[in-house]
Amino acid sequence: MRPDTLALHTGVEFCPHTGAASVPIYQTSTFHWSDLDQPPDFDYARSGNPTRAALERAVAELEGARHGFAFSSGMAAITGALLTLPAGSHVIACEDVYGGSYRALTQVFRRLSIETTFVDATDLDQIAHAIRPNSRALYLETPSNPNLRITDLSGAIQIAKAHGLMTIVDNTFMSPYLQNPHQFGADVVVHSATKFIGGHSDVIAGVATCQDDALASEIYLIQNGFGAVLGPHDSWLLLRGLKTLPLRMRQSQESAARIAAYLQQHPKVQRVFYPGLPDHPGADIHRRQARGPGAVLSFDIGGANEVREFSKRLRLPLFAVSLGAAETILSYPARMSHAAMPQSQRDHLGISDGLLRLSVGVEAVEDLLEDLDSALHAL
Ligand SMILES: *Cc1c(COP(=O)(O)O)cnc(C)c1O
Repeated sequence: MRPDTLALHTGVEFCPHTGAASVPIYQTSTFHWSDLDQPPDFDYARSGNPTRAALERAVAELEGARHGFAFSSGMAAITGALLTLPAGSHVIACEDVYGGSYRALTQVFRRLSIETTFVDATDLDQIAHAIRPNSRALYLETPSNPNLRITDLSGAIQIAKAHGLMTIVDNTFMSPYLQNPHQFGADVVVHSATKFIGGHSDVIAGVATCQDDALASEIYLIQNGFGAVLGPHDSWLLLRGLKTLPLRMRQSQESAARIAAYLQQHPKVQRVFYPGLPDHPGADIHRRQARGPGAVLSFDIGGANEVREFSKRLRLPLFAVSLGAAETILSYPARMSHAAMPQSQRDHLGISDGLLRLSVGVEAVEDLLEDLDSALHAL
């Protein structure tokens, strides 16, 4: 089945008792044992819940994976994957990793004697040169945040495999609809399901998928052992979000492409970052590994004063942290997602004071363009 169909027909099994069309929300903490010698499939809802299990199957199928795990946040899914590493491991991560993942790696995992080296993963030589005898994992995001830098998944994963490293890919920006890193050999794929999978700015959630049965047991050990599981109602919200993921993604992506082209020719805009622009660095690599450029773009309008004026005049976008929702969201990385980063590191990564990130929603694109146009006109 194609992804559009899978999104509607996977994980969803009609209730055998009632024929209910929607997966029931099994709002229960425990399950009755009718026979001591035949334990039920589900016995306690941290260990497993039928609503969560339906979601886990659905996401795994969409990612082309054998196993799926739902967590209480994207960060819980990411730490769940990283906690499978033995103490003393060395991790190689892309330098423009999500801020929360940077914090977890540098402030939490370091305490557990798991050290991370951050490299520019768009340059495969930097990955190869960072490998040490105790390197155990490669952690990637492509396109990355906020400048949509592209890493060659297949090339990077080949290097990791040659040295026995597990590869974890944060696929949040693409969603399972546009990119499936397991195809290129990724061992674990993680998502902040808070973003495109949920799609409605109403739930915090995370998922991890993997292929290997032994690795799946390890992730399950962390999910059940640490207990950062997704509740049944939140699982149901994601199942509901998944049904329209293809529709939302297609509409948002089409609008994002038009907005990127519009911004690129605007005299007040200094630079646009979007993998759908032919001159975007790595656009050719992105086209090989993803089914589209996605719904997120960044652009630079000069400096903090311009950003202040521009964001005040815009009427439609939510001015907020987050992305991947039905409504358009404008974020200011220097003050929001990357505020904790020292200025020198922001400069190094090209996160300037005039840079804005736009996650394009499903509004009529003409309304979005008019709104952007009048706000830019006022600068
Ligand atoms: C939001 C986000 C996360 C963290 O997810 P939460 O659901 O907020 O815990 C991780 N990676 C990326 C790329 C994100 O955008």
